[in-house]
Amino acid sequence: MIPKLTPELALDAGIVAFSKALIAAGYTGDIETSYASRLAVATDNSVYQALPQAVLLPKTTDDLVILTSLAQTSSFSHIKFSPRGGGTGTNGQSLTEHVVVDLSRHMNNILEINVEKRWVRVQAGVIKDQLNAFLKPYGFFFAPDLSTSNRATIGGMVNTDASGQGSLVYGKTSDHVLALKTVLIDGNVLKTHKMATFEAEHRAQMPNSVGRIYRQVLDSCRDFRPQILAKFPRLNRFLTGYDLEHVFNDDLTEFDLSRIITGSEGSLGFVVEAKLNITPIAKYKCLVNVKYDSFASALRNAPFLVAAQATSVETVDSKVLNLARGDIIWHQVKDLITDVAGTEMQGLNMVEYNSEQQSDIEEKIAALTARLDNTIADKTDGIIGYQLTYDTTAIGHIYAMRKKAVGLLGNTKGAQKPLAFAEDTAVPPENLADFIMEFRALLDSHNLNYGMFGHVDAGVLHVRPALDLCDPEQEKLLRSISDQVVTLTAKYGGLMWGEHGKGYRSEYGPAFFGEELFTELRKIKAAFDPRNRVNPGKICTPFNSADKLVSVDGQKRAWFDRQIPVAVKDSFDSSLNCNGNGLCFNYEESSPMCPSSKVTKDRRHSPKGRAGLMREWLRLTENAGYDVLAQEQVLQENRSSFKEVWEKVKNTLAKSQGDADFSHEVMEAMEGCLACKACAGQCPIKVDVPSFRARFLQLYHSRYLRPAKDYIVGNIERTAPLLAKAPRLVNFMLKRKFVASMLEKSVGYVDTPLLSVPTLSQQVGKRYAFDLAALQQLSAAQHEKTVLLVQDPFTSFYEAELVADALSLLTKLGFNPILLPFLPNGKPQHVKGFLRDFARTASTAAQFLNQLQALDLPMLGLDASLVLVYRDEYNKALGSARGDFNVQLLHEWLAGQTLPNAQQSAEYALLAHCTEKTALPATEKTWQTIFSKVGLTLKPVSVGCCGMAGTYGHEAQNLENSKALFDMSWRKPVEQFGTEQILVTGFSCRSQVKRLVGDKPLHPLQALLAAL
Ligand SMILES: Cc1cc2nc3c(=O)[nH]c(=O)nc-3n(C[C@H](O)[C@H](O)[C@H](O)COP(=O)(O)OP(=O)(O)OC[C@H]3O[C@@H](n4cnc5c(N)ncnc54)[C@H](O)[C@@H]3O)c2cc1C
Ligand code: SF4
Ligand code: SF4
Repeated sequence: MIPKLTPELALDAGIVAFSKALIAAGYTGDIETSYASRLAVATDNSVYQALPQAVLLPKTTDDLVILTSLAQTSSFSHIKFSPRGGGTGTNGQSLTEHVVVDLSRHMNNILEINVEKRWVRVQAGVIKDQLNAFLKPYGFFFAPDLSTSNRATIGGMVNTDASGQGSLVYGKTSDHVLALKTVLIDGNVLKTHKMATFEAEHRAQMPNSVGRIYRQVLDSCRDFRPQILAKFPRLNRFLTGYDLEHVFNDDLTEFDLSRIITGSEGSLGFVVEAKLNITPIAKYKCLVNVKYDSFASALRNAPFLVAAQATSVETVDSKVLNLARGDIIWHQVKDLITDVAGTEMQGLNMVEYNSEQQSDIEEKIAALTARLDNTIADKTDGIIGYQLTYDTTAIGHIYAMRKKAVGLLGNTKGAQKPLAFAEDTAVPPENLADFIMEFRALLDSHNLNYGMFGHVDAGVLHVRPALDLCDPEQEKLLRSISDQVVTLTAKYGGLMWGEHGKGYRSEYGPAFFGEELFTELRKIKAAFDPRNRVNPGKICTPFNSADKLVSVDGQKRAWFDRQIPVAVKDSFDSSLNCNGNGLCFNYEESSPMCPSSKVTKDRRHSPKGRAGLMREWLRLTENAGYDVLAQEQVLQENRSSFKEVWEKVKNTLAKSQGDADFSHEVMEAMEGCLACKACAGQCPIKVDVPSFRARFLQLYHSRYLRPAKDYIVGNIERTAPLLAKAPRLVNFMLKRKFVASMLEKSVGYVDTPLLSVPTLSQQVGKRYAFDLAALQQLSAAQHEKTVLLVQDPFTSFYEAELVADALSLLTKLGFNPILLPFLPNGKPQHVKGFLRDFARTASTAAQFLNQLQALDLPMLGLDASLVLVYRDEYNKALGSARGDFNVQLLHEWLAGQTLPNAQQSAEYALLAHCTEKTALPATEKTWQTIFSKVGLTLKPVSVGCCGMAGTYGHEAQNLENSKALFDMSWRKPVEQFGTEQILVTGFSCRSQVKRLVGDKPLHPLQALLAAL
């Protein structure tokens, strides 16, 4: 039985009082103080971890004004705050032990656009891709790019002065900020924009913090201008944090205080709104992928490509390329970066051209390709080939791969994981190749593994050396490499933080700025935040304060992970390996990635949140002396004894009376998961929540009783065949209001699906009956034409007509289909964490299916979510005992068959199941090819999760979220095309459409059957 866990559950009294006072003062935002909520923001993508005391999620600027004003009162003047957006920082920028103020959940509205004057005004929590999706119909985009564009916020971008691909042409975030609205720690609202210097001088007279700030910045930036100009490298990525130089224009007639705030890493105040310059989307784009025999060749060739007037030049090494080959992303890009026969591609430069004029782009491309052809013919410069594309979707796919590179690097096997700490160096581009050679020599001297990519046009290199920080010696190595990289970048005229900001690297600030300028920085910090209360320790501390800067040696995640035994870490690697890059926060509503995160906007309900909670739970159970793996073994082998059940009754009673246990918080996050497995397919590290969730549920229920609905769901494969013996009676009962109400109240189950009438056996009789002996004696000709249809509980008992149609289709195609007897698959048991039962079910099914595999006949299944369990969960549960049986999905098999022409043409829209799309990314393309083979048109529609996911949508506690998910990305295409024109591959999804729209759409096989 798992122990009760109560880590730091009691809150600091000051924080409790502050929370109460906030509500009394009219604050409307969320206040989260649970251990789980605090843990969810205790990490970013860095090596560090800091547990805050609370998380405040304001809804309005007024909320921030209330918060900061209240924090001025003597009772609360000790509380400190750190602003947070997407939490995608790579160096702990938003981490704090104080109070997190997260602007991403609510303050994410686009407020105003002025197309004529080319600007947009947004709240700080707006996500960069969200903004660009909004701007696209107007023909504009927000130009500074970053790899985390689908989850990083404008507030975060402003505060790290983010930039990325194309920065030579498109600049950094600071180049596009027209105005900022910032709430200062004293409750004043500071509005900044470019103005005449005399106006700034006028503002400097104001008798408040705003006046004080203007006075100090004017003094520091004007009086020390010669030192400032002399100090900073003349680089595109000159520096981040308090941009002393660009506050003024060249002749000092214009002044822009926003330049101090951009890149300030939340250390000066809370940015609530930004007015941003927007850029027209180039009409013509071309991407040339140039392939090299070595990474060094790719780097040395970059200046030539920049000189060839490219808009941007990006590079990746062979390591990144090879990792991409093993990822879901590869199927989208493989035709654009084909291998070159006889040579190994070791480096790739992605060269982009943008233009308003087609002729312009064509001239440039013609000149470049002529040069490339000559170079390839001469076998010089290490160029082995190139490919180009004008297709903007294809270009988007290539960049998506490049953007995923960091995540992919994180998916390295073994204890040493690629880490961010020197990952964004910038040197003058002409020094890059030599710098990298020396950097490589440094890493090679420590025998470290690493992959490299970067923005070679701007001299920015991304590298994450692989270290195991659980080994104290390697933690020391991190410090030593870090120091050496600072020296190396200085030697090549660059700087260590060329893109991502300083965070815990702030300790290098004094040496970089020099004492004189660093003192000015501190005076500016003091003018904004005299008592060091906003993101303390980052960038600099206020002048005259004895507070310390955060350091590279700050507390790391590894300090916590070291407490978990290696065997447990290895066993739960699908949660431990999450590196916090935040890809699972993907805002895009039509992407399958994490529906629960999208619908709740609660970080606990994301794959990262769940992985972090699991990690902490494993640490705490270990510290409580509990051996998780041994206990799992016991649970796998034994049922609970009477004594244990009695203990569970007592514990469950205590829980209902409010007895605290961290396990309840973990449970809450796990219960919100739809078990859709999008994370397992799309997370670059392959964090697989359903697999560790099932294990957690089993462990949790060794201490607490299960709800009745778990037993209903877990046993559905056993009860459905029984209920299907009297389907009319069962349906009659289920349709009674009092039964529905009783089911909802007693077991929390709603909209229970009705059984098929007539049943499958009534529909197909004995026509396709299974006879093993007969199958074993098939002639070669009969064998050729025989296929086996594997039943699943959902289609067979709730959608029998689909199974009957599948059998008819196979017959129509000239095959002799055999309907295998129904055998439980075990998925519902797995989802609810009945792992002992699941192992038995899987073992029985695997034995049967292996027996059939010996017949060497195709075995086909209809519902992907069940068929995929044979491939993944069976492997995990049974190991080698799983055998080698292979159940194909119908479309996988159909793709290899000769198909007749359709009788008439028809057009359909395909809405594919999210589990299927993420595990089998070729699904939509395969169905499309099958349809086009027979002369039908099928267009895939991008949709996320439908909100049903097995039984999730039928649980009363999830009903609201289930409907909201459907509305998010399904309702529109369903209404646009109509249920007769959409084809839906998932049983759950078809049921959800029926439940929320009224009509049940067809499976693609039914459209094929009708057309052939
Ligand atoms: C895989 C990966 C790739 C990356 N690639 C790039 C890249 O190409 N280019 C790039 O520039 N960066 C990159 N980054 C770094 C990171 O994504 C950027 O720094 C991003 O701008 C951070 O945005 P965020 O919303 O996640 O901010 P957070 O990480 O939440 O915060 C970043 C900093 O901004 C402050 N902050 C956030 N919101 C506010 C606000 N409203 N008011 C005041 N302060 C605030 C925080 O206190 C913190 O100091 C990458 C990170 C990862 C994990
Ligand atoms: S779960 Fe995966 S995608 Fe999400 S933060 Fe962790 S590693 Fe990144
Ligand atoms: S299974 Fe689906 S809902 Fe659960 S964490 Fe993964 S993506 Fe999110």
